[in-house]
Amino acid sequence: MGRHLCARRLAHAVILAGAASCAAQRGSSATPDIALDQVGYAVTADKVALITRPASAFTVRRVGDDATVLTGVLGAATTCALSGDSVQRADFTALREPGSYYVDVPGVGRSWPFTVADDPHGRAYDLAMRGFYGLRCGTAVDLAPAFPGYAHAACHRTSAFHPSAGASAVPAPSGGWHDAGDYGRYLPTTAVSVATLLLAWDLFADRLAPRQLDQTQGGGGTPTLLDEARWGLTWMLAMQDADGGVWHKQTSDLFPGFVMPERDPLPVRVIGVSAPPYKSSCATAALAAVGAMAARVYASSAPELASRSLDSARRAWAWVENHPAVYFANPPGVVTGEYGDRDCSDERLWAAVELWRATDDTTFHRYFLDRYTQYLGALDAPPAEAWREVAQLALWSYALTAPPATDAGAMTAIRARVLAAGQAFAGRAAASPYRVSLTAGDFVWGSNAVAANYAMAMLIADHLSPAPALRAAALDHVHYLLGRNTFSLSFVTQVGAHALRHPHHRPSGADQNPEPWPGLLAGGPNAARQDPVLAALSPRPAARTYVDDEGSFAGNEVAINWQAMWVFALAGQLSRPETP
Ligand SMILES: [Zn+2]
Repeated sequence: MGRHLCARRLAHAVILAGAASCAAQRGSSATPDIALDQVGYAVTADKVALITRPASAFTVRRVGDDATVLTGVLGAATTCALSGDSVQRADFTALREPGSYYVDVPGVGRSWPFTVADDPHGRAYDLAMRGFYGLRCGTAVDLAPAFPGYAHAACHRTSAFHPSAGASAVPAPSGGWHDAGDYGRYLPTTAVSVATLLLAWDLFADRLAPRQLDQTQGGGGTPTLLDEARWGLTWMLAMQDADGGVWHKQTSDLFPGFVMPERDPLPVRVIGVSAPPYKSSCATAALAAVGAMAARVYASSAPELASRSLDSARRAWAWVENHPAVYFANPPGVVTGEYGDRDCSDERLWAAVELWRATDDTTFHRYFLDRYTQYLGALDAPPAEAWREVAQLALWSYALTAPPATDAGAMTAIRARVLAAGQAFAGRAAASPYRVSLTAGDFVWGSNAVAANYAMAMLIADHLSPAPALRAAALDHVHYLLGRNTFSLSFVTQVGAHALRHPHHRPSGADQNPEPWPGLLAGGPNAARQDPVLAALSPRPAARTYVDDEGSFAGNEVAINWQAMWVFALAGQLSRPETP
């Protein structure tokens, strides 16, 4: 970090307003013993920093002239069982003057800078969408002019079919998003990613519609989110065979080394289940769900896409009815991500509710009503693997459906469960020293996405029954991911003055840029230590089982499905456009 990056950050500010103050970075020696949201706080929101070394008072100072703008007394110390930290609160909610500031604690040090602004997380949202764009496959991408040098040529344009796919003469697809740190494309993760983006649109269209960052520099005029979701959706549609079934993934046999995508030497193939019918039930049901959802969301803005998506969804549903239990496993010689799932009933439940919403066909409604009660427990905790367990998406979708076509009993039961879960999550966050709903058991592979999922669940509960406590607790999870955590580290690349720098992400490792590709959420602490970097750590609490190391694929990888939840969590915090 330093001058070079600061110059670059100021360049960003021209396009993506709200960059943190570089003057503060140059002059500071910030301490990780003060944890706060390094992006900032809305003018009217609660503002809390957390101090992990004993002290008694704090001062908030203005970046630039170090003027004192607020002084306060630290709260009593509480012990965080998840991290082992002793935590004291510095509450500066009274500060409502927009600007750039830092927290100064005598005997401890100063914090990284933050802003107070009307829409402090707008830039983080825009960069989260840029993160998706940077993961596009089958096309050249270039993040200039805001991020000159962050580019790759068109990649993975040619593909064949693996013998396991049983394909005839149809052309192989290309496109989609690179799934994560690798260059594979997988139906399950793409499906939940597109769905999560479209769900954000369902709830926050009024805030998202004006955000029309032109991802390709090719014209713009479309809400960024709809444009980007379309990219993933289009690849999903292309993965459907003529009989309606959907192939599971499109990858090389092995993971490539840390090379840029256009220099990946490994052949890419569509991979199936090795025997008739070659496609798999979970992937096909997921396309049925997402295709129907897209038919609804794109009905007015892209009617041709909506019509094609609905046709694909119907054909996918019919295929799954005939093939309900065909499961994917990697064929011999293929070791890229398996994303295995031997229960596609939740994907079918999800497809049923989305097809019903898109078509009003009561057959789909009946299918949902006959089965939903056995899935209600899915609302009580975020799934550890949200690409595998999608019942939450099905139930949320039903809860968001407008009466009167709904079944009153089902609606009452589902909404009550969504609200009870949201209130429980918010209560847990309020009682937690780091103000998060996370439990010790949540520090799994991708724990940062679990944090984002808590935010989603509370934002949906708030949408059904508005409550300031739900919105505030959802925002607390954004604060956690942007630095108010035991590492005082922003888990999002190039967002915040002290962000991770070494994600498990091939372009970031292979290119010549000193900083990683921007806007990407890393997986986060993983108490199961499923990589050699984490396994080598000394014993430590769950929340501290993390290293900013490129080799830590189980703690520091990026992934589209995590990124989509991050987009949702941020979308819920964007300021609403002013009504005339
Ligand atoms: Zn590619």
